[in-house]
Order: sequence, then C-alpha cells, then structure tokens
Amino acid sequence: MTTTTEVTQERRLVTAIPGPLSTAAMARRSDAVSGGLGLTFPVVIERAQDSILIDIDGNQIIDLGSGIGVTSVGNATSRVVSRVIDQVQAFTHTCFTVAPYINYIEVCEALNRLAPGTHKKKSMLVNSGAEAVENAVKIARYYTKRPAIVVFEHAYHGRTNLTMALNAKNMPYKEGFGPFAPEIYRMPLPYSFRWIGNKATITEDAIEMITHKIEKEIGAHNVAAILIEPIQGEGGFIVPPKGFLPALAQYSRDNGILFVADEVQTGFCRTGHMFAVEAENVVPDILITAKALAGGLPLGGVTGRAEIMDSVHISGLGGTFGGNPVACAAALGAIETMEQDNLAVRAQHVGKVLSDGLKALAAKYSVIGEVRGMGAMQAIELVVPGSIEPNSDATSKVLKYCTANGVFILSAGTYNNVIRFLPPLVITDELLADALGVLDAAFGAL
Ligand SMILES: *Cc1c(COP(=O)(O)O)cnc(C)c1O
Repeated sequence: MTTTTEVTQERRLVTAIPGPLSTAAMARRSDAVSGGLGLTFPVVIERAQDSILIDIDGNQIIDLGSGIGVTSVGNATSRVVSRVIDQVQAFTHTCFTVAPYINYIEVCEALNRLAPGTHKKKSMLVNSGAEAVENAVKIARYYTKRPAIVVFEHAYHGRTNLTMALNAKNMPYKEGFGPFAPEIYRMPLPYSFRWIGNKATITEDAIEMITHKIEKEIGAHNVAAILIEPIQGEGGFIVPPKGFLPALAQYSRDNGILFVADEVQTGFCRTGHMFAVEAENVVPDILITAKALAGGLPLGGVTGRAEIMDSVHISGLGGTFGGNPVACAAALGAIETMEQDNLAVRAQHVGKVLSDGLKALAAKYSVIGEVRGMGAMQAIELVVPGSIEPNSDATSKVLKYCTANGVFILSAGTYNNVIRFLPPLVITDELLADALGVLDAAFGAL
C-alpha cells in the first residue's frame, strides 16, 4: 500500500540527539516560528511508523507520548493511511453544512455506537479538543437554559478563550491572556496523593465539599453542566478515587445538571476501556472526544443524548472545517483498527507492563513518590525523597536524559513534576522493555 519500506520497531541512535541537522533546523525554527510556542524535543521528525519516530539525522526514537495521546493506533498506521489516500484523491473539502459527505455521517454513527449508554445518541464533529469542549458547553447551556459550568482543580480543557477559563493552571495557559469567560466555577478534586484530609473518606468528603459549594455558591438550579476529565490529563494523570465519578453523575442527574465527560485524552482504548468512564459504568450526558479519534489527523467530536444534541436551533452549530472528509476517513481507519485489533485489551497489557516496570523503579528510586494511572495511561509523580514536595528539577533531568538517549516521554502536572506515559497502544513489548531500561538509567544518573 505505501511505497516506502517498513520502519523497524527498534531504537537506533546514529548521532547525538539532537543531531546536526535537527540543530540547524532549530535555528530556522527560532527565526521563523512564534516564540510563544513551546518545544519539548528539539528534534525534527522526518518519518514515523507505529511507535518509532525517525529524525532528519536518521535516529530512531521510541515514542512514549504519541504526540500527546494522539497516535494510539500507531503512527501512520496502514488502515488510516490507505483511507486518507483514497479520500484525498476523491475530494478534500465541501464543508459538511454546505454539502454533506458520507464519512462524516459514518464517524457520527461510530461515536454514537461506541459512547457509553444504550439511549439514542447524536454527534457533531469539530477540528480540535478545545473546539469540542466549546461546543459541549454551548449545547449544555442551550439545552438547560442555565449559565453555570462547574469544573475542577487541575483541569485542562484547551487554549481558546472559554477553555482557558475552564483550565485550572495559570502558567503557561492563562497568564496575560484574560479577561476570561464568566460563569465558570472551580471545585476541589480528590487528588489522593496530595489530599490533606482523611484519605479513608476521600470520596464522601470530596462529594460533600463539592455539593455544598455548588448549593451555597452557585445554586444547583443554575448549573448547566459538571465538566470533568475522568482522569486529569495535563493535570498529572490524577485518577479519582473509586465512587467519585458515579456520585458526581448521580448528583448531576438528581439536579437536572448535564454530566459532561471530557475524554479528549482518556478516550479510545487508552485506559483499557473504549472510554474511561466505563471503568465505573458512568454514562455521561455529553461525551467530548478528540486526540486519538483520527489516528493523527485533527478531529474532535461531541456526542450526547439525542434530545440534548437536537435541542439547538438549525445552524446554531457548525464551522468551515469541522469534520473534514480526510480527517473523517482517518477516524474510520483508526476506529476500525481499535475494534479489529482489540486495542482496549492491548492497552491493559501495555499498562500492566508499564506499571510493573514503573513500580520496580519506584522501589529503587525514592524520588518517585507515586505510580498511578489506568491502562496505558500511566504516570509517576516525582518528589523530594521522604516528602511529597514536588520535584520538577528531577523531572526535567529525567526528560533530558531520555531525549538524549532516544526515548520521548512527556511531563505533566500542576507542579511540573509528573512524567506521563502515553505510548501507542500497538507498542511492542521489546520497545517497552528497552524504554524502561533507558528510564532506569535516567534515574540512576540523577
Ligand atoms: C488536549 C486536551 C484538550 C484540548 O484539545 P486540543 O485538541 O489541544 O484543543 C481538551 N481536553 C483534554 C482533556 C485534553 O487532554
């Protein structure tokens, strides 16, 4: 199907990282590209397949970040590539609200089928996670005729004006970019590693604090939606204690509030389930997706109860590029890969190998304060040994060491002290073992 040769799934260093060609390209980047953009790896990528990235100097690098949880089905995987090629040759754009095409409808059908719950569902497609969040909020407010949106500590929902307001963290997301949208209310999150109360009653105590705050500070009848990531992504892979999400969903139901799950990072098999809320049988009223939906192409989705999604007046929703046909073709290839290759089960295996490996490192290096996650969404939180004081210095050192040795890992967390692992779900056991070996050496070198 592709004319190029297969990329062997192995790490291979032929120069220092970054190599001379990447270094030269970085100078051009500095000259041409806005300084407001971040840069995790100063390495220019030329090719990629599945879990291996090849840079312009010819180094083969293990990708444990999947471009922030996007290439879950593997980079440039065959079912995505072949459908994209066919679609781009057929046509590239019409604007779905001007003249529709079938693969947009097919992606919505797939999302409606895969989203939790047996009720009738409908979907719309957009270009990004932030745009999906924006539309979910628009729809929730329209349907409920209520203004308030409840969000949480450590939350991340995007970089547009509304989603900046929804984010918990000031630097780098909000600093200097205000004023922000009103009617956003932030609630405590039961972050067990840093919970100052009684950890034995964390779920009940958190729910009690949140419902009390909602009733006293907002009025439950004014709340359109409770918006939450089932596992906080950028916030540091914070897995809520068991029972927390079901209790929030129940409270929402009891009060006419829509329970909106932002599964932009957790969705599509990442956690060992198609969607993370399934771990506790939570059925959201609205499900927000993006990142891994289209195997690397930009696409987001909003999926919800039919009566909610249909409540908005005609042309109240839309956008020029939303649900681009090439991105839709990619999504159909990605979803087919997830289902036919049973990537949810594969994610459980990858998660087990990762968490076993990380726990062994935690036993060896006291700088690792906690190993946590679900499925192939695992993280370690680094601390000053013997305390829970965040250790962002060690985090950046480990990241640097891994980069120089051909393993890409990402950081996260409100305190910049979490290393998160989001490998492609198709990663081989050999690559995982090799990467864990590099990580071990990185901690050894601290
Ligand atoms: C990445 C992310 C977003 C924003 O998605 P973009 O495509 O970058 O706009 C929103 N919510 C969560 C949970 C995310 O991880």
